[in-house]
Amino acid sequence: MAASADLPIQAPASELKDRDRKYVIHPHQRADRDERHIIVRGKGSTVWDAEGNEYLDAMGSANWMGQVGHARPELAEAAAEQMAELQYFTGFDVYSNEPSIRLAERLAGLAPEGIDRVFFTNGGSEGVDSAFKAARLFHFRRGEPDRTWIISRRLAYHGCTYGSGTASGFDLVQHGFGPNLPNVEKVTPPLPFHSELYGGQHPTDFLVNELEQTIERIGAGNIAAMIGEPVMGGAGVVPPPDDYWPRIREVLSAHGILLIADEVVTSYGRTGVWFESQRRGMNADIIVTSKGLTSGYMPLGAVLIRNGIADAITEAEGFFHGHTYFGHPVACAVAMANLDVLEREGLLDRAKQIGEWFEADLAPAREFPTVGEVRVAGATAGIELVADRQSREPLLAGAAAVSAELRRAHHVIVRDYNATVVLAPPLVLERSQARQISEAIVEVVSRLRGDGTLSPR
Ligand code: PMP
Repeated sequence: MAASADLPIQAPASELKDRDRKYVIHPHQRADRDERHIIVRGKGSTVWDAEGNEYLDAMGSANWMGQVGHARPELAEAAAEQMAELQYFTGFDVYSNEPSIRLAERLAGLAPEGIDRVFFTNGGSEGVDSAFKAARLFHFRRGEPDRTWIISRRLAYHGCTYGSGTASGFDLVQHGFGPNLPNVEKVTPPLPFHSELYGGQHPTDFLVNELEQTIERIGAGNIAAMIGEPVMGGAGVVPPPDDYWPRIREVLSAHGILLIADEVVTSYGRTGVWFESQRRGMNADIIVTSKGLTSGYMPLGAVLIRNGIADAITEAEGFFHGHTYFGHPVACAVAMANLDVLEREGLLDRAKQIGEWFEADLAPAREFPTVGEVRVAGATAGIELVADRQSREPLLAGAAAVSAELRRAHHVIVRDYNATVVLAPPLVLERSQARQISEAIVEVVSRLRGDGTLSPR
C-alpha cells in the first residue's frame, strides 16, 4: 500500500525510522541491525540527522566520496540550469548532448597519455562490467574470442552486479546468489602487513610468481584482463609495495592481457592525484571511475578507455552495451561543476595535506597493542586492528565496536571493513576537524581490548 503523501518532508525522527523499517530494503544491512540514522542535511564535512545531532563525516557520506563536501550551491545550480535546458535525452546510437561531450573531453585531458575515449555509467559496478565487456569484445574483434577469463584478487571490492560481484574477493557479495559469472580467477592481494601470506618471500616476488603460474595454468590465450584497485580500499586502505604494479603490468603485457584499474575510490583527488593508477605505474588500459566524479551529487561513472581498445569496440556493429542514463546531461553538468571546484580550490593538494595531518595525529594510535598498522594514502586511511601484535589475528569485532563508539560517543562517522577502521573524508576537511577525528580515534582505540570489547571511558 502506498505511504501517505501528506507528511511534511521532515517528519519526526522516530516516525521516519518506523517508515524506513517498513518500506526500505537497505543494502548490506544485517537483520539484527535495528538502529537507523536518518541524515537530513549537510554542509562541508558536517552532517545532521533527523534528531538534530551533528556528525563529522570522516568517511565521505560513509561511502568514500564527497570530494568537494556537502551541499555546495555551485553544484546545485549547475543541476538546476541543465534541468531547465535539457533534462535528458538518450546518448544511444546517433544522439548526444553537450555536457557529456564536454565532460568526456575534459576527462581525456586529465587521463594518462593514450586514453582519450570515455564510456559513461551510473556508478562503479556498471563501470566494472562495462570494462569487462570492453576487454572481451576487444579480443573478440581482434580474432581472439577465447580470451574471456578475468583475473582479480581476493579481498577486492569491485561492485555488486554479477560481473563486478564475481570479481570481488569475498564471500558475502556472492553467497546465495549463484551461479556467479564463470571464468573469473582470484589471486592473492598485496597486503604487506600480512607477511604470512607470502611464505617468507618479498610480497611482490611471491605475487608475480603466482600470477605467472596462474596465467600458465589458464593459458594466456584464454585471458582477457586483470582488474585491480591501485590502492585497495575495502581491503582496508592498503598501498601495495612500490614495485608491485610495474612488475604485474610487465607480466600482463608480455601475455597480451589487458589491465583494468578500478579507480572508483582512488580517482579525482582522493589520494592527491587525478588517477592513482598512473602514479603507481599501472599504465592501465581501462580506468573505471565514479564517486569523486560528481562527489555524489548525482549518480555517474566514467570508464576511460585506451584509444586502440576504443577503436576495436566501436567498429562494425559497435558496443552493444549501455544503460538508459548513459551520459546523463544533468549528471555530466554537475560533474563539470565538481571538477571546477576541485581545480579552483586546489583540493588535490588538500588531499595530500589531509594525509599528512592523519599521519601526524594518528601516530599515538600506533603504540596501542590492538593496533596492527596505520596506513595513509592521501585523504584516506586505514587503522587495522589485531587481537595482539604477535599473532596479527584480525580483530573483526574490534573494528565494528570502534566504529559504533566513534559515532555514538564522538559523533564521528567512519566505516569498518573487516578488522580495519577506514577514513575517507571530504577534501574540504579543515585542520581542526582532522584533529578532532584523529583524537576521537586515538581515544576509542586506547580502550580497545584484545577480545574486541571496549573498556569504559
Ligand atoms: N569499485 C570500488 C573500488 C568500490 O569501492 C565500489 C563501491 N564502493 C565499486 C567498485 C562499486 O561501485 P557502485 O557501488 O557505484 O556500483
